[in-house]
Amino acid sequence: MKSTIQVTKSSMPDFEEYIEEIKDLWDSHWLTNMGEKHKKIETSLTKYLDVSNIVLFTNGHLALESAIAAFNLTGEVITTPFTFASTTHAIVRNGVEPVFCDINTEDYTINVNKIENLITERTSAIVPVHVYGNICDVDKIDKIAKKYNLKVIYDAAHTFGVKVNGIGIGNFGNISMFSFHATKVFNTIEGGALTFKDKRLKKKLDNLKNFGITGPESIKSVGGNAKMNEFQAAMGICNLRHIDEEIEKRKKIVDRYFKNLSDIKGVKLLKAQTGIKQNYAYFPVVFDGFKKTRDNVFEELMKNNIFTRKYFYPLISDYECYKHRYNSNDTPIAKYIANRVLTLPLYADLELEDVDRICKIILK
Ligand SMILES: *Cc1c(COP(=O)(O)O)cnc(C)c1O
Repeated sequence: MKSTIQVTKSSMPDFEEYIEEIKDLWDSHWLTNMGEKHKKIETSLTKYLDVSNIVLFTNGHLALESAIAAFNLTGEVITTPFTFASTTHAIVRNGVEPVFCDINTEDYTINVNKIENLITERTSAIVPVHVYGNICDVDKIDKIAKKYNLKVIYDAAHTFGVKVNGIGIGNFGNISMFSFHATKVFNTIEGGALTFKDKRLKKKLDNLKNFGITGPESIKSVGGNAKMNEFQAAMGICNLRHIDEEIEKRKKIVDRYFKNLSDIKGVKLLKAQTGIKQNYAYFPVVFDGFKKTRDNVFEELMKNNIFTRKYFYPLISDYECYKHRYNSNDTPIAKYIANRVLTLPLYADLELEDVDRICKIILK
């Protein structure tokens, strides 16, 4: 009986390394509210992500909700339906209306040529998503935003450590959101961050994640609670020590998948964008004109205890909670890809022999 392979496996430091890191919490009894670990990982992440400002959160989703809240956005926000539930939910939970733009056929990010047609006098922002580690056309989005005076908040949950022409991806738009969830390239168990250039945003975001508290007897604004605690931060400190090694291992796995699956009729792989330092976050395959359908491949791998994910399927506009307001045929490329995409297992410790075995089952 071959062992089970999940689509991902959370990166963890050695047990002893984590224990060593959290030991002093038993001296300080300081468990949350921006303690020493929080300060340390904040500094390290600012460096690693090559950004000027960062605010840490207990997860990526609340970070994104806070980013939208920080600008008091109203009316409509242009985004894509080819993403995780979080992106659209964050917009809706702020009382703003998502307007779905279609995606590109090659990199699955927002089609910048279709944005302007969707802009109305109610549009207040664009929330594009960097998908699978691929980045959006940040220059064109910047031009459109300037022309129409719109805010840009990137969902950068998939692009930890990605750089474009040597610049950290968290430097684009007004704010970028990173997720440090257990399943992401870098994790703090649960966790997230906002990065931004305008340092005046720091206070506002700090208040949004901590009840609007500005001093022992001063609460100036309405805020929630979305702070990263010390155990999360300690996990981040440990995981960040090994991140380059982890990404290097992911690269080897992606290279192996490419070796096995390139030039196969009906099997479309995600090409690397030029000028990008990649993070190898996901390995999506689009089955289009292959001898088996996406769902056949999914089932067959499952029979062999190999678990893949139809990520992103269904399209957000087809969700139970949204389908009465949207028609997924309005974004035909997104719909086409969602019906054919499968993300294959990818994590640092995945054995190359297992990659070969997965590919063999697919091609059989
Ligand atoms: C993971 C993810 C989020 C949410 O992040 P959490 O840390 O899980 O709250 C948002 N958007 C995308 C695209 C994601 O993959």
